[in-house]
Amino acid sequence: MSIDHVKGLSCMNCGKQLPPTHTDYTCDACGVPGILDVLYDYDLIRKRTRKDGLEGQDAWRYLPFLPVDPAAPPPRLSVGGTPLYHPERLCRELEFPGLHIKDDGRNPTGSLKDRASVVGLARAIAAGARTVTAASTGNAACSLAGLSAAAGIPCFIFVPKRAPRPKVAQLLVFGAQVFQVEGTYEQCFDLSVEASRRFGWYNRNCAYNPYLVEGKKTVGLEIAEQLGWQAPDRVYVSVGDGCIISGVYKAFHDLKAVGWLDKLPRLIAVQAEGAAPVVKAFRDQRPIEPIEPNTLADSIACGIPRNGLKALRALRESGGDAVTVTDQQILAAMRRLAGSAGVFGEPAGVTAFAGFLKQLAAGQVPRGERAVVLVTGNGLKDIDSAFKAVGEPMRVEPSMAAVEKLVSRAG
Ligand SMILES: *Cc1c(COP(=O)(O)O)cnc(C)c1O
Ligand SMILES: [Zn+2]
Repeated sequence: MSIDHVKGLSCMNCGKQLPPTHTDYTCDACGVPGILDVLYDYDLIRKRTRKDGLEGQDAWRYLPFLPVDPAAPPPRLSVGGTPLYHPERLCRELEFPGLHIKDDGRNPTGSLKDRASVVGLARAIAAGARTVTAASTGNAACSLAGLSAAAGIPCFIFVPKRAPRPKVAQLLVFGAQVFQVEGTYEQCFDLSVEASRRFGWYNRNCAYNPYLVEGKKTVGLEIAEQLGWQAPDRVYVSVGDGCIISGVYKAFHDLKAVGWLDKLPRLIAVQAEGAAPVVKAFRDQRPIEPIEPNTLADSIACGIPRNGLKALRALRESGGDAVTVTDQQILAAMRRLAGSAGVFGEPAGVTAFAGFLKQLAAGQVPRGERAVVLVTGNGLKDIDSAFKAVGEPMRVEPSMAAVEKLVSRAG
């Protein structure tokens, strides 16, 4: 296997450097809190790679920046390559001309998680893994299940009992073995780590397996390219475990390291008020403390953000900020984004947009800036929350007279 542009790994907890051949997921000195960061030989990447030499339209386009052997068989589903919209009507309504929406709900299984799974699976296959596993609030599992189905690899999933039914259905349809745990996501995470040790299953947990964040990085690489190899002024990201925002940070960090960009965007972490340990730690400049999550945005209902150190680094190094939104603001953001831009996100998927709206209303976003808001998951993944946002349709007798009556009332 030849991935010579990967120099090694470094522990986010103690700083220890490990060789690229290190096979354990975390730092041998720190254990599970010793989340690793993948280090690259940027001189080598710079020498080998040209902007106009990138090939293909999906996430594999950025292979020179990924910890994947170029000779490895490509994944069978097309991940990434999602649109970056400049939603004119919404920009006009908000009097904010520089707004861009990155719709990652358009991935094969409907969320940004596919970007991580595709790299995870490529590495699992290269490592000769026969079985894969993940703990997930829902989307990471759906994504692993879909991609594993296409690759013919059995997959064992741990989801909490509160996972929305559409996500559970997605898992079962893809043929995954699903353990719906009578417990929390935190408990699912621990079970999956234990199970991967016990049974030798390849672990796809993004905040555990260091290579997964590298897959999420492709969303940031795409944004930069879609803006003509420029960094926006700010990127809004909804945060649960903190892997997506770490991936976005890594993207811009890597592009700056190879000299393709000269600045980083400010990264703005958005969390639900009822699950905001990262926002709290950032504001108080203290270590992250576990909380009991309470939000309808299930994909970011994380009480123990497993990639908190990386997320905080992303905020610190990018001169970023952190903001909370209420569940009501999340539902309002869902209506607004779908109603004015035609992009329908699940609650966690529109949380970043809710954070943008809140900061815009508070006068915290200069009007001349260029802001990218990441939509991380498709709205059909959580129908109950969508109905909470919009209520029920008009019921009508099957007669024109009845329709007319309703039309005149609606007009
Ligand atoms: C997983 C997820 C998030 C949060 O990502 P983290 O990497 O856990 O911070 C946000 N939105 C959606 C739709 C997700 O599935
Ligand atoms: Zn360590």
